[in-house]
Amino acid sequence: MTAGKPKAGGHHCFKCFCDGHWSRDCPFFRMRITCKFQYPCAKCRVDFKSGVDYIVKSNYGVEKNEWAHHKCALETLVDLDLVPPEVLNIDHQWS
Ligand SMILES: [Zn+2]
Ligand SMILES: [Zn+2]
Repeated sequence: MTAGKPKAGGHHCFKCFCDGHWSRDCPFFRMRITCKFQYPCAKCRVDFKSGVDYIVKSNYGVEKNEWAHHKCALETLVDLDLVPPEVLNIDHQWS
């Protein structure tokens, strides 16, 4: 187990779904909002559905400092081995 990698499933943090910190202290995402504008995701380039999709501002990946789908940005964290892959299986409404 990687030292410092947070545990999945505690639901403490509603941004990365990891245990061990609260969302306001999330080291991965600075913002998580319901999208209020139509704009392409920095990662998958698909337009956000305004008023529907959850989007985040991430500190990692190609979407760093850009708006991306919450799920897209979470997949980046899993790819970078920063969070356990289980976070993608947590029952969650992406939009
Ligand atoms: Zn977090
Ligand atoms: Zn996306």
